[in-house]
Amino acid sequence: MATGKINVSVDNIFPLIKKFLYSDHEIFLRELISNATDATLKLKHLTSIGEAKVEYGNPMIEVKVDKEGKKIHLIDQGIGMTEDEVKKYINEVAFSGAEEFLNKYEDGAKDTGIIGHFGLGFYSAFMVASKVEIVTKSYKDSPAVHWSCDGSPKFNLKKGKKEDRGTEIILHIAEDSTEFLEDARIKELLSKYNKFMPIPIKFGTKTETLPKPEDAKEEDPAPTQEVDNIINNPNPAWTKQPTDLKEEDYSGFYRELYPMQFEEPLFNIHLNVDYPFNLTGILYFPKLTNDLNVQKDRIQLYQNQVFVTDNVEGIVPEFLTMLRGVIDSPDIPLNVSRSYLQADGAVKKISSYITRKVADKLNSLFKNNREDFEKKWNDIKIVIEYGMLSEDKFFEKADKFALYPTVDGSYYTFEELQEKIKDSQTDKDEKLVILYTTDAEAQHSYIQAAKAKGYEILLMDSPIIAHLMQKLETSKEKISFARVDADHLDNLIKKEDTQISKLSDEEKEKLKTNLEEVIEDKTYTIQLEAMDSDSSPFIITEPEFMRRMKDMQRTGGGGGMYGMGSMPDMYNLIVNTNHELVGEILNTKTAKKRERLINQSIDLARLSKGLLKGEELTNFIKRSYEMVK
Ligand code: ADP
Repeated sequence: MATGKINVSVDNIFPLIKKFLYSDHEIFLRELISNATDATLKLKHLTSIGEAKVEYGNPMIEVKVDKEGKKIHLIDQGIGMTEDEVKKYINEVAFSGAEEFLNKYEDGAKDTGIIGHFGLGFYSAFMVASKVEIVTKSYKDSPAVHWSCDGSPKFNLKKGKKEDRGTEIILHIAEDSTEFLEDARIKELLSKYNKFMPIPIKFGTKTETLPKPEDAKEEDPAPTQEVDNIINNPNPAWTKQPTDLKEEDYSGFYRELYPMQFEEPLFNIHLNVDYPFNLTGILYFPKLTNDLNVQKDRIQLYQNQVFVTDNVEGIVPEFLTMLRGVIDSPDIPLNVSRSYLQADGAVKKISSYITRKVADKLNSLFKNNREDFEKKWNDIKIVIEYGMLSEDKFFEKADKFALYPTVDGSYYTFEELQEKIKDSQTDKDEKLVILYTTDAEAQHSYIQAAKAKGYEILLMDSPIIAHLMQKLETSKEKISFARVDADHLDNLIKKEDTQISKLSDEEKEKLKTNLEEVIEDKTYTIQLEAMDSDSSPFIITEPEFMRRMKDMQRTGGGGGMYGMGSMPDMYNLIVNTNHELVGEILNTKTAKKRERLINQSIDLARLSKGLLKGEELTNFIKRSYEMVK
């Protein structure tokens, strides 16, 4: 028997460990299981190269909770340690690791996330235990060793009682950590951190139902047996080669990752590189709604099959954080802060690799099965549009497969769209005007008017579309977007031939005065225009620029035009001087009748823009009934 003192600079490091990692106590289990896994994988390696002359067998790691004795046992069948190794690895290496970790932790970078996830190792046991014992027997032919330590720098080392190879860690759970003596709590931690670790982990037993023997009677109960309860899947799909997996393996794995998700993912992307960095993983495109805030199940980050975090911000480009799945990489530095992570060269490479893979996958889906891609467009567009906005590299690639649906259900790429509309929708300044609607129901009458002229109308209804249009207008030449209700059609796409007004200048003056007498609402700017006689007599329009800026501000950004969102809505009231009804208003002798005609007409224009509500709508309906009588 020997006692000794760990070479510590601070008198007692363990209270410090506790203090600094207060919120993250639960990671002790992951750290110890990681050590047990490493010890087992080391043995596997040594036996495979003939270095260790022992049977590797089918090792597992066992976690046992002894609630009465207030202990947790972790038992592995790995390489174990000799006495010298315990002295070296536990008293020196493990300790210096813990000390180094604390120094780093104290040195400021305490900001967020990833820090604290890795690096503490064996000594994290003291976050929950008042005393820790190690009973270990090396694969080398040497006696077992028993080490114990009660949280002071003093340790105790003696001969151990252990026949079989491996290590048993015994944690005497401290008074303030008894939550970890609950089976349910341990189960929760195992499934959070260890669900896909490479060595089977046993936690208790479970009852398994066996098939009934052939000669069993109907009423006989099916036989059962007690089996080990293995909590993990040591060979998750992402660790396999894509060629070894079928579609159902991918959807099966999705279910394993997100047991509460009932909807099938739309498609998946298998990530697999080993140079210039190591990364594997599977990403899934879930069905996404237009609501950017709904996003419960997130991408999980693993390091060699050990769960690290489900906050991958900084590692995966932001637009892809809407996806689901896993990424696993030993090359992502984990015990650093997020701001450091974002500047890290390897992490940048990983991020652009993922972006490229996603773009390539989308491109091949588009090319190989366009019909299916079009069907899925509505569910994936938000990711693609967001990506086009935020990553220039992605914008370039996505330009080939991003789709622009029309109100009639056709889907065009940008190039196809240009080709399709260039003859009819190029204005006199050689600019291509792309008409769109954000709501085909609400803007129905405007759409009909544009269709009557043979124009194509895109349906652009995602929340960030205004930003994307802005980006397209600046990155492509001579194009502009205009919503169908931004102006009357002759103004939206200006052609050479201007309409001749049927009214003289004097008549126009008179008409304007007539209108102004009746229309008191100053949100409407009256504008007289000579249009086709069969175009609507009165149209309310909402200028593109202002409206789009407001839309953009509502979804973040807005080109620096702050305060725009609080500005009142501005509308133009376009009056078609060539329309019969307008002529009638002008020629009506009685003021009463004129007022009624104007009010009724304007209300109709407001109705078709969805602006007639409340009391005004009630009055309009009343007035209309009077008129049909
Ligand atoms: P790390 O795992 O990062 O090296 P730890 O503090 O967790 O740091 O462990 C220190 C060392 O103790 C390990 O490198 C390993 O050599 C040894 N060790 C820890 N746990 C075990 C175990 N279950 N079996 C064998 N060796 C172990």
